[in-house]
Order: sequence, then C-alpha cells, then structure tokens
Amino acid sequence: MVVTRFAPSPTGYLHIGGLRTALYSYLWAKRNNGKFLFRIEDTDLARNSKEAAEAIVEAFKWVGLAHEGEIVYQSERFDLYKSYVQKLLEEGKAYKCYMSKEELDALREAQMARKERPRYDGRYRNFTGTPPAGVEPVIRIKAPTSGVISFVDGVKGEVSFNASDMLDDFIIARSDGTPTYNFVVVIDDALMGVNEVIRGDDHLSNTPKQIILYQALGFDVPKFYHVPMILNPEGKKLSKRDGAVDVMEYKREGYLPEALLNFLIRLGWSHGDQEIFSFDEMKEWFDPNNINKSASAYNQEKLLWLNAHYIKQASYERLIEELRFFDVDLSLHVKKTLLIDALRDRAKTLVEFANLTKQILEAPICYDEKAVEKFLNNDTVILLEHYFEALKNEKMLQEASEFETFTKAFLEERGLKLKDLAQAIRIAMVGSSVSPSIFEVLEIIGYAGVIERIEKLIS
Ligand code: GLU
Repeated sequence: MVVTRFAPSPTGYLHIGGLRTALYSYLWAKRNNGKFLFRIEDTDLARNSKEAAEAIVEAFKWVGLAHEGEIVYQSERFDLYKSYVQKLLEEGKAYKCYMSKEELDALREAQMARKERPRYDGRYRNFTGTPPAGVEPVIRIKAPTSGVISFVDGVKGEVSFNASDMLDDFIIARSDGTPTYNFVVVIDDALMGVNEVIRGDDHLSNTPKQIILYQALGFDVPKFYHVPMILNPEGKKLSKRDGAVDVMEYKREGYLPEALLNFLIRLGWSHGDQEIFSFDEMKEWFDPNNINKSASAYNQEKLLWLNAHYIKQASYERLIEELRFFDVDLSLHVKKTLLIDALRDRAKTLVEFANLTKQILEAPICYDEKAVEKFLNNDTVILLEHYFEALKNEKMLQEASEFETFTKAFLEERGLKLKDLAQAIRIAMVGSSVSPSIFEVLEIIGYAGVIERIEKLIS
C-alpha cells in the first residue's frame, strides 16, 4: 500500500510550494488507494510556534485535502526519539562526542586554512577513555567513510553521493538531548509506514543522511521524489515580491481552493495539453514519476483564468457561502440567482465578485467622474428626469423584460435608441458606466430602488 505524507515545519504560514507537494502526495496516495498522512515537524522550539502550526492546519482545511488519522506532532514524541538514540548507542551505531565548541571551532579554522571542507574528524568515534569533565556530549551516527550512497529518485533519476566527501558523522541528538531534524524525519516516516516521500528538492542533500539513518535503524528506505522549486517568471526562487506565497493570502484575494489546486498541479506536471482538471481526473492521472525535471514558472494570469473558470461553474450555494467571507450575504436576497448569473462571467476573483455585488445592492455613494463627464450632459439629464417621471407613473415593474419593454417604448416615443439612455441609467444605478445587462440590474435592484437611485442622481 502506498503511504505518503505532508510534513510541514511550522515556521510561518503554509507556502504554496508546500501545498503543491502536499497535493502531489495526496493524489498519489488516492490514486493507489493508499493513505495520506499529516505530520507537523515542530521540534525546532526556537523557530516553531503553536500559532504557525494552527495556521498551517487551517490553510490545509481550506484547500480540503483530507488526511488519514490524527495529525502527528513531533514535539509530542521526544521520548520516542530518545529511545531510538539509545538503541543506536547500545548497538554501537552511534556514539557520544565530547568535543567542545572551542575544539570544533579550532578544527573548522584549521580545515578552512587548508582549503578543506569543514567537517567533523571522527575523533570520538572509537573513544573508550574517560570523558572530559563538564562537557555534555552530542550523539553522532557512525556514517560510512567510503563508498557511494545512491538511490533512484522518481523525478531526478539515479542520484549518488560520495560518502567520503559528502558525509561525516553527523549529529543525531544535541547536547541538551533533543534529536536533530534528519533523525526525527526518518523515525517518523518509518514508524508511520510512509513508503513514498514527495518533497521539495531543497531537501535533496538531506536524503543521503536519511538513508544512512534508515539503514542504521534497520528500516526500509522509502521511494523519494524530489520536486523542483517553483520559480518566478525571471527564473529566480519564488518570493513574496512575486505575489502571494502564503496559501491563506489566496483565500483573502478571492481564489477558490480548486482553482489554486488546479494551478499547482500544472506547475510541475502535465497531462497532454489539458489545463483544467476535475479533482477526479487529478486523482486518476497524477503520477509523481512524470513530474517535470526542471523548475516551473509561476504565472499569475493562468491562475486568474482558472479561478474565473471555477467561479463560472460554481453552484449558487457555493458562491453564496464563499461570498460571506467578503461580507456579502446573499442568502435571503430574492434575486440572488439572477444576480449571481449576471456576475459570474465578469468576476475573476471572489473579491471582484463581492465588489460587483455590493455595487448593485448598495446605492452608489459617489459617481465615477469620467463616466459622468462622458455620458451625463444637459440632454441626458433631462431625458433621465422624464424617464424618472414616466417610471413613477407606471405600475410596479418587476422582471427585466418588463423594464426592457417599458424603457424601449419610452425611447421609441421620442425617436431615441437605448444607447441614448443606457449609460445614464447605469450611472444612476451603480455609479459607473460598467455593469452587467442593464435590465437585469434593474430587476435585481427592484422598482422602488431604481426610482430612488435615479432621483438621487438627478436631484
Ligand atoms: N518539514 C520539512 C519542510 O517543511 C519537510 C520535510 C520532508 O518533507 O521530508 O520543509
């Protein structure tokens, strides 16, 4: 059974690069009827916080990738890690190193002076003497000193590291007893049964160390897939300057999670030329062995295009629910479906959708200057006044078609066309000369509201 996981470190927020590897891990598990697990890597007490962990969990809920079982928090498993440190010590696969910071610094300086790569020299590897007083030891793994550590990465192909120049007896537990990053990742992945690890290729250099630990601990080495980073359009690592990197920022900017996921799956993987993927298609077709070998460039236009697509096809209930986040409550509005249909082709984001909705539902407080200058002259204002009188004397109009028949008849009598009045009506209704179909807007605003808004403009 394929078991994958997402294992973020809570240092801030959920990064879209992290969400992309989470999505890949999720889809691969689903495709294989396997399990997708979730673990918070919060052992770095100085850099991690509870708030950051909660923010990541919240963002994860928003995108809706369900994980199996409870979330595993590494900070609650220190005893477990210690027991494995102990085991390796007892088996002679790890050892206590009493080198002081000063000694380590001196060694590093000497190596740098010789233009060598600074590394631990193994001086306590076979130490049997009396430990120096007052030094709390670190625990180091006995790493191979020669040979090659290699593995077949699902994305990169065969990857090899020369033990002699890549590795030294790295630390698995610090002098205060806390285990190090690579050590806990291995323990957890092994104990959680994770056998396929999909993660960013910034972790590639950790992998040989982790393989050494798997072997020392007698665990099976999982299959690795190291995914190239997401780059900005200039080919540099994506950063805040290029747009949002925090997943929740996408929520605030009015993106639907399915648009973001669809966007992310294509950043690094493809299925022919297809751009739009239903969730079922993603689950059916995604294969990490086909992840692109080269980094993918972030493209904001593509994301907007996808978002517009998903807004267009969202159900009424869904949009009503999503718009609540932007302080728009359409649930009780009698014309809600008409309103949604009038706007769903015009809004690329929910923020735009909410603004357009507010523009129609709330009488304008001010009028767009350019529109006023262009479309409101003496003649149009007089015409609008006549229209206002005629409308007041008419029976209550309700449907868009009734407004249309009435307006066209009113104009025909005067030998005029819709274009002679439409923009003035628009300005009166929404404060600008841009709106969806004018008669639908009138129906949504309603007879009384229409009269009120015209009166406000002409008075
Ligand atoms: N906690 C690591 C990170 O957030 C991920 C570790 C892994 O996937 O192996 O970058």
